[in-house]
Parts: sequence; C-alpha cells; structure tokens
Amino acid sequence: MYEKTQKLYDENAYLTAFEGKVLSCEAIPEGYAVILDGTAFFPESGGQTSDTGTLGGVRVTDVRIDEKTDVITHVLDGPVETGSTVHGEIDWNKRFDKMQQHTGEHIFSGVVCSRFSCDNVGFHLSGEIMTMDYNRPFTQDEINNAEALANDAVWRDLEVDARYPSAQELAGINYRSKKEIEGAIRLVTIPGIDVCACCAPHVRRTGEVGLIKVMSFENHKGGIRVYAACGKRALYALTREHDLITGLARSLSTGVPEVPGAFERMKNDLSEAKRQAAELCEKMVSAGLSSEEFVFSGDIQMNPARRALDVWMNEGTGLRGVFAGEDDAGYSFVIGRGRKGADLKGCDAGKAVAALREKLGAKGGGSPEMAQGSVKAAKEDILSVLQSVI
Ligand SMILES: [Zn+2]
Repeated sequence: MYEKTQKLYDENAYLTAFEGKVLSCEAIPEGYAVILDGTAFFPESGGQTSDTGTLGGVRVTDVRIDEKTDVITHVLDGPVETGSTVHGEIDWNKRFDKMQQHTGEHIFSGVVCSRFSCDNVGFHLSGEIMTMDYNRPFTQDEINNAEALANDAVWRDLEVDARYPSAQELAGINYRSKKEIEGAIRLVTIPGIDVCACCAPHVRRTGEVGLIKVMSFENHKGGIRVYAACGKRALYALTREHDLITGLARSLSTGVPEVPGAFERMKNDLSEAKRQAAELCEKMVSAGLSSEEFVFSGDIQMNPARRALDVWMNEGTGLRGVFAGEDDAGYSFVIGRGRKGADLKGCDAGKAVAALREKLGAKGGGSPEMAQGSVKAAKEDILSVLQSVI
C-alpha cells in the first residue's frame, strides 16, 4: 500500500502548478489511475466535486481520495510513466470559482446557524450548482436577512484561516461539523462569523467571495434547501436573469420597471380573448346544431361545444353531436340526446359511442343522455356509422 498523499492544496489553496513523482499508473475502465507522492488536485470530498487539469500534459478527469488511507488517485485519459516526475496543472478558473462558492457557503452557514439556530445538514458543490441544506424551514424575510448579513461579512474582508489545531487547542474550540471526523481535524475560521471543520481549499479573505446571492430555495426533508451563487458565478447568474428581463422589456416595448404591469395587462387581455373565443365558439356550435345533426369543425373547443349541446338538449329531440378536429388528426366529440320529445326509443348517446368504438376504434363512452370520446377516422365514415344507429 501507498503512504498517504501529501495534500499540497491544504498548505496553499492558490497553488496552480506543481511537480509530482508518479508512484503508480494502472489501467482502469475510466482510463488510468495515477498516484503521486503529493498533489495540488483537490479530490471529490465533503460534497465538493474534484478539480480537473493536466498531469504530464494528460487530461485529469477525476480525483478521488480514500478517506481511510488518505491516498489520492487521479483519473487520467492516458498513461504517465511510473517513477517519473510529472508537471501538474489544475484548471485554476474552475478551482477559484469553487473556492469562492465554498467560502461563501461557510459565511452563509455561519450566519444562518448562529442567527437562526439550525444546523447545516447537507452541501453540494459542482461546477454548475451549489446547494446548502438546513434542518428547519425559513421564511423569505429570514433568507433576505441572512443574505444581507453574509454579504456584510464578505465586504468586511475578513481573514479566512485554515489550519490543523492541536488536540488540546481543539478541545477548547466550539466548531461546526457535519460528521464525526477521524484523524486530524482541519478548522476553517472566519472571525466572528464561523468556525467549521472542512478539508476544502478556501480563499484567503472573505472579500474575494465578492457577492453571495441566494438564487432560490425550497422545502426539503422538513428543512430547507438553498441554491446560491457566489463571486463570478453570482455575476453570471444575475447577468443571465438581467438579460432575460431586459429582453422581455424590449419585446414588450417598455422599461424594466414596467414589465410586471405590462405582463399583468397581457394576461388579462389573453383571458378576455379566450373568453370571447369560447363565446363565439358556443354561438357557432349552437347555430350548427340548429340545422345539422352532427357538427364537424377544426375550430371547435370542447367546453363551449358541450355548453351549446346542453342548451340544444333542453329543447331538442333525437341525437346530436359535435366533432372537434380533422380527418387526419382525428376528432374529440360529444353526443347528446334531446330532452324533449316522447319517443326516446332507439335514441341512446352511449350506444352511438359504442358503435363508433366497435366500427372505428373510437375511445370513450357515457350514458344514454350524453357520451363523449375521441376517434381517428374520416367524417364520412363517422357519419355513416352514426346514421346506422339513430
Ligand atoms: Zn467546507
């Protein structure tokens, strides 16, 4: 077995390039597993995805740590020579982005857990998303309050201290920790804001976090899940939303502050237009039913059609129906029996639909008074089936 890998990222989170001795290189299904004597690559751990970059010019796609032995394995696209010294480079933009998010998370969690007495019970940080889970629900006001306090801590540009205190020192420190940690404990301290056990690389000062923005939050397992973005990621996320709203304003030919009002007016106009269309449809179907037994049209909506048929049924005799659709796409339909007229014999909407089911593979059914369904067939064939049953 190998000695534990020296964690260069622990000593210097800003180390972007290093030299490492290749202790082993083995083919694995995902590529090649490479172990070095020391590395600046942060492995996937504590909810944060691993760094990427290159080793000896070969792409590093994943980095893993065996938490028991502290041996770090790099997954490479190609092999490197065992025993050689390779030059490693981490994708610094991606790493710094995660440092901004992770320190932002400590600040936010420190504020939330001390001010609102709860625990941080989950954390996930990838290249795209950061989530923080807390074991109690929050109101929008509390989130706004926490966000403001967290950003205050960012702008006070506090020093972020990451180190391994002695067991004696540790005994006197009150710190947050998600799990029982074996071995040496690394504490990340932001004075007056947070002390938390954490293995990840952090920025030197809170000012480098730039901005902490809660993008959304949702109820999660009796508590809350917060989606947040920090630093450059927050700028990009807010820029995307800004572009969206300015684009919307442009398309509505109005200013950004007027968008909600313009949107509200559009919603009202649309529901009024829908109401008018339904009214017109009901009139059209009523007119059709006064002269034809079965009305076929592609412009019919089913709800106003049902209302028109119901009105006809109060005064009519026999069977009448409305078919909305076209021959190729098929029809939705409703068939009703007039409530006037003594002779209702042989006049059964349910039986008419049963005949359409049997002869044309229609779906649906109903009572002798009213039945509905859908059928994919030509108008001509539908009419000939209906003529045979009425
Ligand atoms: Zn952490």
